Amino acid sequence: MDLNKNNNFPEYESGKDSGRGLVIVNTGSGKGKTTAALGMAMRAAGHDLKVLILQFIKSGGRTGEIKIIEKLKPRVEMEQLGKGFIKFKDGRPQPDRAQIENANKSFKYAREKIYSGKYDIIILDEINNIISYGLLKAEEVVGVIKNKPKDLCVILTGRNAPPELINIADTVTEMKDIKHAFRTGIRARKGIEY
Ligand code: ATP
Ligand code: MG
Repeated sequence: MDLNKNNNFPEYESGKDSGRGLVIVNTGSGKGKTTAALGMAMRAAGHDLKVLILQFIKSGGRTGEIKIIEKLKPRVEMEQLGKGFIKFKDGRPQPDRAQIENANKSFKYAREKIYSGKYDIIILDEINNIISYGLLKAEEVVGVIKNKPKDLCVILTGRNAPPELINIADTVTEMKDIKHAFRTGIRARKGIEY
């Protein structure tokens, strides 16, 4: 499907056509990075585009998005590749051996999917965190993104997006944390956080 064709949306006809799939980054410490990416997946699914969502940290949780996306197959697919949240000590990430090995394995898998040419949009959820924790090299990710199929749109989420990635991206949004209920002791809510 032609991602650049604005059928029936005259208000979107101005400006040049990029002629290619965009690189989009959702970063920052405020809430909304993953949910904004899922929102784009939902939009894209409405246009019958093919979307793949790969989660780099989450593992096996039956989140609301996993449950609903199962019903959107084969238009949207979602896989949790992670091995759970990475522990911190004195402000530094303490990934265990399995998490370190898994980061590279997961990115290899993502690379295969990117080069497969089977998708219109691929979301790499929390990949920025994996890079900022030192589990994956920014240059490696940027190298793959630069060689992606022309029409493929790649959305990368997570805190601390590296400058190398911001440089090559078309759209970068920083979610700003003004308040978060979590800090007043309110725990994660069904339908809001998971
Ligand atoms: P969401 O999945 O809600 O869009 P996110 O992707 O922007 O959040 P992550 O860094 O992936 O944020 O956060 C993982 C979890 O922590 C989510 O459940 C999210 O709602 C919550 N969260 C996000 N921002 C904050 C914050 N500033 N303080 C505490 N918890 C947060
Ligand atoms: Mg997230």
